[in-house]
Amino acid sequence: MSSENVLAPASSRAPKAPFDVWKVREDFPILKTRIRGKPLVYLDNAATAQKPQAVLDALERFYLEECANIHRGVHFLSERATVDHEAARAKVQRFLNAKDAREIIFVRGATEGINLVAQTYGRKHVEAGDEVVVSAMEHHSNIVPWQILCEEKNARLVVAPMNDQGELLLDKFEKLMSPRVKFVALTQVSNALGTINPVQEIIRMAHQREIPVLLDGAQAAPHLGANVRELDCDFYAFSGHKLFGPTGIGVLYGKAALLEAMPPYQGGGDMISSVTFEKTTYNSLPFKFEAGTPNIAGAVGLGAAIDYLNRIGLENAAAYERELLAYATERISAIPRLRLIGTAREKVGVLSFVLEGVHPHDAGAMLDQQGIAIRTGHHCAQPVMERFKISGTIRASLAFYNTKDEIEALVAGIKEVREVFG
Ligand SMILES: *Cc1c(COP(=O)(O)O)cnc(C)c1O
Repeated sequence: MSSENVLAPASSRAPKAPFDVWKVREDFPILKTRIRGKPLVYLDNAATAQKPQAVLDALERFYLEECANIHRGVHFLSERATVDHEAARAKVQRFLNAKDAREIIFVRGATEGINLVAQTYGRKHVEAGDEVVVSAMEHHSNIVPWQILCEEKNARLVVAPMNDQGELLLDKFEKLMSPRVKFVALTQVSNALGTINPVQEIIRMAHQREIPVLLDGAQAAPHLGANVRELDCDFYAFSGHKLFGPTGIGVLYGKAALLEAMPPYQGGGDMISSVTFEKTTYNSLPFKFEAGTPNIAGAVGLGAAIDYLNRIGLENAAAYERELLAYATERISAIPRLRLIGTAREKVGVLSFVLEGVHPHDAGAMLDQQGIAIRTGHHCAQPVMERFKISGTIRASLAFYNTKDEIEALVAGIKEVREVFG
């Protein structure tokens, strides 16, 4: 397995050695933790993923051996930090199959990436009476920035509906794309339901009408990878911490021509080319959108996470995850008076469910007593809960280091909850 084997377009990704989950687990030190004397069963990967040793090492190495600010220094450490920061950008570029490293903007996470687009592209192009389309299964991070924009501009936020399985209704989606629509912002994968949306088809429909599309890739990138040129999306945002990298670092991809024409987001250091009190001229891409000292260590850590994924092979990991999802779906659906929320045909490893007669928080607290980490509540997707007429769900979300044994621990835990609550 060569570290050169970066994620090229999906079709050309070569199969690698068979996926060995027990070997992979060795790479994640936290998975050996015991919680209240029980082995940790970490099933909250849609909230944040654990980090492999390679990422921890990269962070430590950065602070131990090359900590310095970038882009301005003439000294040895500053140059080295700059080189590594830009090397991380190149890794992201290859991971996304973007044409140019100038199209890769480092941000804090998916949330900041989406806000950036709403506040720059959105403010420039959306006017009174215009519409922005989102879907019924968006994370709050892909709703609120557009709401803020629409309120400011007197524009309208339009919501594309889904069916009871949690699948978008494509014909309805297409009907919403009127000449008033100036932008479509859509999640590729739902964090609350696990649905994989047919984004390529939606992008094609939008582009026929010259409407640009932003994909929220926060849940898609860790499970499906991303190929922005194949998808032909105009913007793509994801978070490092859900991709087995550090918190506080994320990426906004944008097509160069769009980014060039956009006004800057935040003002400050590094995003300028010259400043006088009369007039400031802005730096070239991607720096125009990176005001202030960036999360240098975070970028380096994200680069290490991408290297790690390339080594284990995201395709292999995804195939294993699909098998684990099928197993978990069968085991969990068999529990009496349990209702799965989100049963789309195309799904990633998210199991959202409700237990009749049990408040999700009570179930979560009981599972926690057994060392099982799941999430309960609305998962930052309150409109999804409203759509299914529930207050929240219990959500188990999988990563490629989870095992069938852990699914069995979850099933046993749910049965114990049932015994207590009847
Ligand atoms: C987690 C998540 C976000 C927000 O990511 P942050 O890392 O909190 O910025 C946005 N969209 C989806 C679908 C998510 O799962």
